[in-house]
Amino acid sequence: MEILKKIELLGLQISDLENFMVAIGEPKFRGKQVYKWIYHKGKSSFYEMSDLPKELRQRLDEIAKISIPRVLKQRVSADYTRKFLLELEEKKRVEAVVIPQSRDKNAQYTLCLSTQVGCPVGCSFCATGLSGYQRDLKAHEIVGQFLGAQNELAKKLKTQDKKLIKNVVYMGMGEPLLNYDEVIKSVYILNDPKGINIGQRHITISTAGEAEGIEMLARENLQVTLAVSLHACDNDLRNKLIPLNRKYPLERLIQAVERYISLTNRRVTFEYVMLEGVNTSRQDADNMIKLLKPLLVNVNLIPYNEVAGLSFKRPSPQKVAQFYKWLTAGGLNANIREEKGGDIEAACGQLRAETGRTRKRRL
Ligand code: SAH
Ligand code: SF4
Repeated sequence: MEILKKIELLGLQISDLENFMVAIGEPKFRGKQVYKWIYHKGKSSFYEMSDLPKELRQRLDEIAKISIPRVLKQRVSADYTRKFLLELEEKKRVEAVVIPQSRDKNAQYTLCLSTQVGCPVGCSFCATGLSGYQRDLKAHEIVGQFLGAQNELAKKLKTQDKKLIKNVVYMGMGEPLLNYDEVIKSVYILNDPKGINIGQRHITISTAGEAEGIEMLARENLQVTLAVSLHACDNDLRNKLIPLNRKYPLERLIQAVERYISLTNRRVTFEYVMLEGVNTSRQDADNMIKLLKPLLVNVNLIPYNEVAGLSFKRPSPQKVAQFYKWLTAGGLNANIREEKGGDIEAACGQLRAETGRTRKRRL
């Protein structure tokens, strides 16, 4: 007997699921029922879908699947940030992080999602860049991280509440705008008011500076927040930190951001990883003021999270505060990002695909 590949239902919109049901000879409304089981309840087993006839549950199990990734491992930080290692198809692994917004029992969570297995950009300071690039994630694998993380979080917190995650940031492994179509598709699924219902304004997409992707995003008419990783305000240094700068140097990047702001009227966040002795001088601050002051932007200063195998260091809190003062005195809107999960390597840029490979790199 020929073994047919099962059809993936995760990642389908209501209308797709309705069409699927009609195509297999079922009434259309079954599509909506399955949609609710997936996105409201996070279920991946058809046998648990109690409002479907038994025969249909069995048939669906034979022809279809809902691949919510398994949590292979998790670590909990002293600040209750949780890092999940999730297993996708072909045993590929990615990490997702849930970060509580407060210490109380009813805390809301931010979820940091991965968009690629590894990352092709290879920034010199980033742990993900070290683990190499394996492949892009499909939209259903991005949404699957949400459902997998949410299920696990609810289990650990012993609650039935499936609305614990309120914000989503595309800041895990990978460069989202190099996996543009699947990332945008996943945004629409996460945002669907009939499903997971994360508000667009509660979604942030971070890019290392993929200028063409930024311009495409500007035309999507979405209310998401764009975050751009800056890290240096001269091309020589930026080339060394973010190899993508050779393709899109600062002038081109700023042009794309200007277009984004004028099309969307939305404030853009610039992220700036602070690296001791590399990008924290008075001159660096002055360069940033000159570059960003004409734009509608916020600056997020991220004290570097040190990565085993890399020689970059985090500046002292005094240096970070001094740099912040220079920026705000120069008229920029800036803040210092409070780091969470550093003790379990769940902070920005500390995620890797656990291949065990590390490589020494110097600037
Ligand atoms: N690829 C995208 C999104 C993922 S990285 C991007 O680069 O923007 C999310 C943020 O973490 C980026 O600003 C990135 O530069 C930063 N980052 C990477 N490694 C870091 C580290 N070790 N410490 C602090 N921030 C880091
Ligand atoms: Fe990729 Fe972002 Fe890490 Fe650079 S900082 S290697 S773009 S994940």
